[in-house]
Amino acid sequence: MEANRVYNFNPGPATLPLEVLKETQAELLNFSGSGMSIMEISHRSKEYDAVHNKAKADIKELMGLGDDYDVLFIQGGASLQFAMVPMNFAINGKKGNYVLSGSFASKAYKEAEIQGVGTVAASSKENDFRNVPKQGDLKIDPNAAYLHICYNNTIYGTEYHYIPDTNGIPLIADMSSDMLSRPLDFNKFSFIYAGAQKNLGPAGVTIVVARKSFIENSPENLPTMLRYNTYSKKNSLYNTPPAFCIYMVGKVAAWLKKQGGLSVLAERNAKKAALLYDAIDNSNGFYKGHAEKDSRSFMNVTFRLPTEELEAKFIAEAKEHKLCGVKGHRSVGGLRASIYNAMPYEGVKCLTDFMEQFRTA
Ligand code: PLP
Repeated sequence: MEANRVYNFNPGPATLPLEVLKETQAELLNFSGSGMSIMEISHRSKEYDAVHNKAKADIKELMGLGDDYDVLFIQGGASLQFAMVPMNFAINGKKGNYVLSGSFASKAYKEAEIQGVGTVAASSKENDFRNVPKQGDLKIDPNAAYLHICYNNTIYGTEYHYIPDTNGIPLIADMSSDMLSRPLDFNKFSFIYAGAQKNLGPAGVTIVVARKSFIENSPENLPTMLRYNTYSKKNSLYNTPPAFCIYMVGKVAAWLKKQGGLSVLAERNAKKAALLYDAIDNSNGFYKGHAEKDSRSFMNVTFRLPTEELEAKFIAEAKEHKLCGVKGHRSVGGLRASIYNAMPYEGVKCLTDFMEQFRTA
């Protein structure tokens, strides 16, 4: 580990690849020979234009998507997408159909409900959100404008291990905490969004990847900045974009390409997750995972200890070992280790070694 750094298991903002941070540091005062930092350059300059367009192209390349898809950069976090999605798509009497698999999935539904256009296709709330609903449990409204799912449930530590078959209804996914962590058939999705601050870069930009035909006709009565076609028509440059965030997202995408792309990342992420889940499963019940096995997340591993006192002790002692950010979300309690793309295997190994040491002390 780099001197003065820690292993950062925070759920977001989260750890970034060290190479990316170093590169950013080196370029900070003089970006591309301009004598200015990227934060000081005009968003209409050719230097910025190259950064912006390369970030978009690299994201699409990593996802294996073609010209029928566009990448948009929007502010307001994933939370603004909860509201914009029904505004733009649940129109002409059609409703948005939601799968409730955790807190953020429920928050997305709530925004549709506020607009009077939300319906529920399935929920795992009765099971404390320990699983994501299975295909057979989805009661998809055949007249829905879309089916909305949250692909990885950051707080509960569950993730889809399948892509729902919607029978032709456009599929929309919040991938805030697992975007670009593994290859999927992204062509099956009409619209994907993610707040950048977990796997993709700093907080401040939300990445939308959408089928062009799905976003080209936004309702005319929506304010300009709340219409997707404002972003698609203007290459996300209608107003001043969060240039530094997009620059960082571009660096992360380039780093992912350098690693070998999403299949390499998926393999690494699966190995890290297996190490951690094995430590839980082989602890004679000392550590108890929250998620059901077939819904376990590759990104956020949630578990409990026998008592809250032991959990507090674990968190404090882990910090002394430079293992930070392992406290679970207040709504679930316990522990959560977020092991996004930038978390090295060695970081997870340090954590599992510490878990064993703590358990047997
Ligand atoms: N969706 C998921 C899956 C998340 O994990 C989060 C944040 O943690 C959000 C949405 C909310 O994102 P933001 O804070 O960017 O609005």
